[in-house]
Amino acid sequence: MTKSDLTVIIVGLGFGGLAAAIECHRRGYRVIGLEKKPDTNQLGDIIGLSGNSISILAAWNDGSLGHLVDDDVTCEVTALELFDSQGDQKLAMPYNSNNPIQGYLFRRTGLLTRLYNYAIHIGIDLRFGVTVDQYWETDGSAGVYANNAKLTADCVIAADGLHSKARGIITGETPELRDIRVVAYRSIFDASEVANVPEAKWVLEKAPTADIFQTYYAEDTMVAMGTAAKGRYVHWGCAIRGSSEVKSEAWMQPATPDAILKRLKSVPAGRKLAAVVARTPPGKCFHQSLRAMPPLRKWVSAGGRMIVIGDAAHSFLPYAGQGGNQAIEDAAVLAICLELAGKKDVPLALRVMEKLRHRRVSLIQEGSMKAGDSFLNAAWDSEDESKRPSAFTHQAWVYTHNCVKHTYEEFHTAADAVINGREYTPTNVPANGEFCQDDCKSSKSI
Ligand SMILES: Cc1cc2nc3c(=O)[nH]c(=O)nc-3n(C[C@H](O)[C@H](O)[C@H](O)COP(=O)(O)OP(=O)(O)OC[C@H]3O[C@@H](n4cnc5c(N)ncnc54)[C@H](O)[C@@H]3O)c2cc1C
Repeated sequence: MTKSDLTVIIVGLGFGGLAAAIECHRRGYRVIGLEKKPDTNQLGDIIGLSGNSISILAAWNDGSLGHLVDDDVTCEVTALELFDSQGDQKLAMPYNSNNPIQGYLFRRTGLLTRLYNYAIHIGIDLRFGVTVDQYWETDGSAGVYANNAKLTADCVIAADGLHSKARGIITGETPELRDIRVVAYRSIFDASEVANVPEAKWVLEKAPTADIFQTYYAEDTMVAMGTAAKGRYVHWGCAIRGSSEVKSEAWMQPATPDAILKRLKSVPAGRKLAAVVARTPPGKCFHQSLRAMPPLRKWVSAGGRMIVIGDAAHSFLPYAGQGGNQAIEDAAVLAICLELAGKKDVPLALRVMEKLRHRRVSLIQEGSMKAGDSFLNAAWDSEDESKRPSAFTHQAWVYTHNCVKHTYEEFHTAADAVINGREYTPTNVPANGEFCQDDCKSSKSI
């Protein structure tokens, strides 16, 4: 690590903020990380990270994930199994975590805790129980007010999530989130809850040596169910179209699974799924109304010293599995831009980051909306392959992209476009600007 005289304030320590803290610390910047939660306790069930972000995390540890991953955090899945509403298996796609286009499935809370611990272990200044409520910038510095104190840095990275307060302040935009009339329910709990229940213990079929991940598609209903940590945990997620009783898009609102159990009564395969859902312990079921966020016009403040990243800049519907991945890409690209522009030109760094990433992320945002439609409209018998559910519609340009290499290669071209007001053509998206390419099923990298 080369010492730099750059100071960075990071607001919000989810995947985006933590990755930014670590990427900046690795380059020698002084980092102050602020998180409103009192401690590292987090919620969430399963989160998937593909090659495009795994390679960034692995680079912190000479290419291995040993600093973050152990038996209690991964899902040891060997196949993704897809079923129709009758419970007939339609597809069993071999699954290999080491294939970058597939990637790892993690217990979200477990991985986040390990990221916190790693960041603290390498000496980053992380402060919990600190809520940032004001942002400021001048020509030469930027900062925040938090818990009645003024903090000063060279730039502020706001990674404060979907409900970002920074978004409106920094970008001047507060876009309306569109209610897509789908409610997502999710849970993860200890496998002992089902271990002795004859009609539910099928979900532990691979425990204690491996995990399963099964997805069931019925009309306007999708259920994904499986295990984590070789059967130590059971997780399930369910998306129901047409529900409107949930008023907020907040990630984790406590709920009961009653609406799912009612819906599953009309699904032929519903009995076996309901048997597991019904064992969800009180307090372990959460729901969320899915809202689509349109792309923002910009991520950087007028003075160029404050930027939003991650969900604060571009939240995704959960269908493309890119929320965590793109937040981590943002973090790595931003840290490299700061390195290449240097303390003397922080605004250039932030504007180049936006130039390099905005089109790519906006295209994935649009793509995740389209993907959701096919999940809830499963047409197994359609002649049109794109209408049939697939375990593997992962586009190489998204999932195997190497944003680190790309940023070092493209920084100067994008910087020239920023400085001279020239048009910049992004090279981290398909040339024809379409989300789904013919190479959807290949592992070709761009
Ligand atoms: C509770 C929760 C559960 C989730 N569960 C899943 C899941 O099961 N599966 C999945 O795929 N994705 C899940 N996600 C989404 C996924 O983790 C994110 O899309 C992705 O990681 C982007 O992360 P982020 O860092 O941009 O934002 P987030 O992960 O939302 O992190 C934002 C952080 O900012 C903090 N913050 C907000 N405002 C302030 C403030 N004013 N001052 C200081 N700190 C502030 C928040 O407390 C939070 O820790 C979940 C997100 C949350 C918040």
